[in-house]
Amino acid sequence: MDSCLFCQIVAKKIPAAIIDEDAHLLAFHDIAPQAPIHVLIIPKEHISTLNDLEPTHTELMGKMIMKAQKIAAKLGIQEKGYRLTINCNRQGGQSVFHIHLHLLGGRQMHWPPG
Ligand code: AMP
Repeated sequence: MDSCLFCQIVAKKIPAAIIDEDAHLLAFHDIAPQAPIHVLIIPKEHISTLNDLEPTHTELMGKMIMKAQKIAAKLGIQEKGYRLTINCNRQGGQSVFHIHLHLLGGRQMHWPPG
């Protein structure tokens, strides 16, 4: 999707600090990190929001979480802990409309989130 920022990153038309890539997923460092570690894990397929997921995406979403687990281990935060977040639509805090999993770590997380 030409108008989608994250599709452009998938297509390597816009640069990103990529740390992991496979046939279905891409992971890169967030450009405006909210924690010492802030990685975005995205499907290569364009899916706008959580509301657009279909049952056929079940395995893909599982792969995204397993990818986050792998990256957390690679970055050495699996034991101390980390947070995974998917924002949905405006009130959920979503600003880029290509579904993405935030992996946040390297500092104490707080609850409730803002
Ligand atoms: P959300 O608000 O949940 O949609 O998250 C979108 C995230 O994308 C934000 O944390 C932004 O900082 C991040 N972001 C926006 N543009 C880029 C970019 N070009 N490269 C990496 N991360 C980006």
